[in-house]
Amino acid sequence: SGALYLVPTPIGNLQDMTYRAVDTLKSVTMIAAEDTRRTKNLCRAFEIDARLISYHEHNKQEKEAWLVERIRAGDTIALVSDAGTPAISDPGADLVERLTAENLPVISLPGANAALTALVSSGLPTDAFTFIGFVDRHKKNRAEILASWRGHAATLIFYESPYRVSEFLNAAYEAFGNRRAVIARELTKQFETVVRGTLAELCTYAKDETLKGECVLLIEGASEQEQLESRNPEWWEHLSVLDHV
Ligand code: SAM
Repeated sequence: SGALYLVPTPIGNLQDMTYRAVDTLKSVTMIAAEDTRRTKNLCRAFEIDARLISYHEHNKQEKEAWLVERIRAGDTIALVSDAGTPAISDPGADLVERLTAENLPVISLPGANAALTALVSSGLPTDAFTFIGFVDRHKKNRAEILASWRGHAATLIFYESPYRVSEFLNAAYEAFGNRRAVIARELTKQFETVVRGTLAELCTYAKDETLKGECVLLIEGASEQEQLESRNPEWWEHLSVLDHV
């Protein structure tokens, strides 16, 4: 049989394309791209002359059966998203699940990814981290989702649209209190900015500043005290009542 290659593409700086990514895109039978126009530009930059087909959120259901059949028949197919690593807050995971369920080969190339690039320069602990990605933007759902991570010890990594960073930070302050946090903006691009502070400081920063460009938001994990509090909320409530006696 053939194989599916998961090929990361740059998140801003074209030089982050790897030699292996270029070689793979040059040699596969076809490239399945989230946005064929964008991938065409990338191919032009690296002199890749490959057949492009579209695979995105809205046609992936119908395309998957066909892609699986192509791979079974011996085709090699590279999957690329608009930027970064496919299947991370981007289409791809369903296709990989189907292929692995049928024991067809999936080969993952390492490369650009916004979450890890942000994490390692954040100054927050990297020994344990949890990637959450995009959180539902509706106020009530967002508050519930954020609150559900309150007792989690690992560094939390979120993606957020530039238009909602301020809103997100305010909700995060409500859910987590004044923890340390980081905004990593425009990574690998000309105006790359990493802002480190407490959630209260970052709320103020994001309010004053028109935050343009893509952002990763990171929040420090729960302290031991916060982990205990979230495990036994009633117990702590009683204790705080006693505090006031
Ligand atoms: N698959 C991609 C990856 O591996 O990082 C993520 C795709 S997701 C649709 C896009 C989100 O990733 C943006 O909203 C932003 O949160 C984050 N992102 C992508 N590029 C970025 C960059 N250059 N700087 C900061 N965040 C970025």
